Amino acid sequence: MHEASIAQNILDIAIDTAKQNDAKIIKKVFVKIGKLAAVDINSLLFAFDALKEGTIAENSTLEVEEVLIKGECEECGFINNYDGYFFSCKNCNSLNVKIIEGEELNITEIEVE
Ligand SMILES: [Zn+2]
Repeated sequence: MHEASIAQNILDIAIDTAKQNDAKIIKKVFVKIGKLAAVDINSLLFAFDALKEGTIAENSTLEVEEVLIKGECEECGFINNYDGYFFSCKNCNSLNVKIIEGEELNITEIEVE
């Protein structure tokens, strides 16, 4: 289950960042996850809640923003959102579509006290 290791990573980074900023309590952690990262959000939240016990993030919540898949056609430059794993340009039908968004997994903000 790779959601557990992702949750652990997020937690580690959040705790390190909070400590570097002399924060005592983490309240919220915001993450952006692209649809292509293939992360099951419910599993991630579940793992995060289990792993945060006993840390300064114990009472924090994980706020997940899902990022749609965005592709740019290399033939005609058309940019479109894609839902799923088959990419063909909706303007010219080319299969030469470059993914420009949707693979990311980033912590965007950490709310501390
Ligand atoms: Zn095109």
